[in-house]
Amino acid sequence: MNEVSPGIFRLQVPIPNNPLEFTNVYLVRGDDGYLLVDVGMDTEEAFVALERQLAEIGAALKDIAQIVVTHAHMDHYGLAGRVKELSGATLALHRIESQSFAGGRGPGPAMFDQFERWLRANGFPPAELAQLHPGPAHDHRRFAQPAVPDVILEDGDEITAGAFRFKAIWTPGHAPGHVCLFDSGHRVLLAGDHVLPVTTPNVSLRSPDGSPLSDFIASLKKVRDLDVRLVLPAHEQPFTDLAGRVDAIIAHHRQRLDEILAALADGPATAYQVSQGVAWMPEMGGARFESLAYWDRRMAVTETLAHLEALRAEGAVGKSERSGVTYYRRTTLPGRVV
Ligand SMILES: [Zn+2]
Ligand SMILES: [Zn+2]
Repeated sequence: MNEVSPGIFRLQVPIPNNPLEFTNVYLVRGDDGYLLVDVGMDTEEAFVALERQLAEIGAALKDIAQIVVTHAHMDHYGLAGRVKELSGATLALHRIESQSFAGGRGPGPAMFDQFERWLRANGFPPAELAQLHPGPAHDHRRFAQPAVPDVILEDGDEITAGAFRFKAIWTPGHAPGHVCLFDSGHRVLLAGDHVLPVTTPNVSLRSPDGSPLSDFIASLKKVRDLDVRLVLPAHEQPFTDLAGRVDAIIAHHRQRLDEILAALADGPATAYQVSQGVAWMPEMGGARFESLAYWDRRMAVTETLAHLEALRAEGAVGKSERSGVTYYRRTTLPGRVV
């Protein structure tokens, strides 16, 4: 039994084929049933692990009264439909996440086509894209059953369970409608994927609008100075130094922004070309773009795009289009603020 703080239990739900290995799902004791924060991937193995760990605490699915999902990624949201149905719990999700996944059905073929066009416009060679086309192994719908939320969360909404009063803090960046849950009385932050102790959460630009990295940095600053005793992340281990970890993540991105500016030193380049000048997977000693697997290349380009658009928002970079392809270039403006 893993009671990480009085009344809060951590359940580890396995994620197949992922170095993170587990989603941490938190069970909070309430007066009329438990609150479950995140649920896990929709696999049989995950479901069995969840039920078994509930039983170890002396709880069953039917004892769950509320479910809050921090964001609509499949390792958090996947099992929400099944658990909701079996428990009768209410399901809460931020408004933007509920829209982005259209009630949990996940991205459809039209979305993949749109995404491919977008990658091509950012310099991805068509021949390489042909190999990127999602096969059945990457069909996200396999890992999530439709789950329609009962409660639409907005920034500042309160979620109560027993002695706990959590405030939903909207933290866009890793996902546009990501929320953290903060209980100021117990000084506990359920951080979702917003702040992880070791891994830097992926921040990608997947559509022509917005600057998710700018949002992410602002969301990190939003939680940095909360009076927190314990951070309970959705992956890896609970930790205590929130401000220190936030500073380290911001420093990582600042370094990556500099690296990307340097990659533009020789003149205009596509996001794909810029990605080739960046060292990837710094946690594992750095890898060249060419050595990445196709799916990781795709992620490298969307991450590069997030950085390029953040630089553009700051005025350090401009962009223009030639024959349907977008080129980024440095502007002469010196200095920038992250
Ligand atoms: Zn996520
Ligand atoms: Zn996750």
